[in-house]
Amino acid sequence: MKFAFYTLGCKTNQYETQAMERFVTQRGHEIGAFDQSCDAYVINTCSVTAVADKKNRAVIRRCRRDNPNAVIGVCGCYSQHAPEAVRELGIDVIGGSAGRQAFIEEMLEALETRSHYEQLDNALRRREFEVLPAGGLEERTRAMLKVQDGCVNFCTYCIIPYTRGPVRSAPLELAVSQTRELAERGYREIVITGIEIASWGVDLPGKPAVTELIEAVCRAVPALRVRLGSLEPRVVTEDFCRRLAALPNLCPHFHLSLQSGSDTVLARMRRKYDTARYYESVELLNRFFPGCAVTTDMIVAFPGETEEEFGESLAFIRKCGFAAMHIFPYSRRPGTPADKMPGQHPNAAKEDRSRRAIAVAEALKQDYCRSLVGTRQQVLFEETAEGLYAGHAPNYVKVYAPGEDLHNEIRTVEITDLYRDGVRGKICPCNGENSVV
Ligand code: SF4
Repeated sequence: MKFAFYTLGCKTNQYETQAMERFVTQRGHEIGAFDQSCDAYVINTCSVTAVADKKNRAVIRRCRRDNPNAVIGVCGCYSQHAPEAVRELGIDVIGGSAGRQAFIEEMLEALETRSHYEQLDNALRRREFEVLPAGGLEERTRAMLKVQDGCVNFCTYCIIPYTRGPVRSAPLELAVSQTRELAERGYREIVITGIEIASWGVDLPGKPAVTELIEAVCRAVPALRVRLGSLEPRVVTEDFCRRLAALPNLCPHFHLSLQSGSDTVLARMRRKYDTARYYESVELLNRFFPGCAVTTDMIVAFPGETEEEFGESLAFIRKCGFAAMHIFPYSRRPGTPADKMPGQHPNAAKEDRSRRAIAVAEALKQDYCRSLVGTRQQVLFEETAEGLYAGHAPNYVKVYAPGEDLHNEIRTVEITDLYRDGVRGKICPCNGENSVV
């Protein structure tokens, strides 16, 4: 039988799709492309905003229309949160945001019996971390290592605590053994991923801190680069920085979710820090990792955000000097407190603020890229791009350089100028792989 997968949403969803693909191939079935004729289709959904919900429904409808006789399964945060809406779309198998292996078993049964299956639990009652195989089907350059699931922060704009449930952490030994397996399979870099990785360990005996996990993973595979997924700023302390700075294979790239640079908006978002605490984290990172890339996400036009608060946000992002940012216009998510807040902005205001924030973010990115000119970067090459090879430096800046047969190779590149969405350089003739970061 041939299966095809479609993933919406975050890195954790992508990781979970890769795991389902591996379950399918382990059972002797094939993986095909989503736009080709297959026996079964799986849509792994996201429910982060009302816009995401709409996208899920559009993909599901189109899939059913184009493949009237195929078995179609829907899993992920949207079907966890709104199974009735998925049922209406004539789906054969409905799963949620857990139980991936059982979901694939039900897909296989549905292929034989043509019956309808559902396996949905109450996410808020989950207590166990679901162990899934790490890495994808092919030997790729970068693999995600999921170490944590769930969140109990209940930010006012976010539905995730309801769709993913409480924090569950991968035991340290499991994370380390999966990391070793990824190194053996030829990956050069792993990204420590989860819904809220800063809270890794709170449910484990002795409540170890995430710093312990990062140290263990980095030390287990010194020849592999380790990159951290999104962090809450509260986790960045002097002890955290000192211990991480001693890990030579840790990439100096830190994604600290900001969401707003205005204290009053942060309070309405129910984030657990203010701009002073956030800035302390940025300063610590710059002190311990000179030249590191601090990147972030920001939501603009949150309900009630005044022009003055928006101005505070712009000033704050300039002060932090982010190397890269994702700017999101606030999007209503039914079922969250922010959806009921007064002062919802019309689309025109959201677009206007997004445009202005993106302009600042672009200028900051260019400043950061300019600071790299003349430096040498260890680049992990991934793909060809318009006659050049492209890959990422440890700080996650995209680097282009002339060269051949560089896929999955790490090379020292001297940066010469800004180019497209990153920088350009030339591979140093002295090259040898003397360091991965
Ligand atoms: S920290 Fe806040 S935004 Fe992030 S997943 Fe948890 S509730 Fe959502």
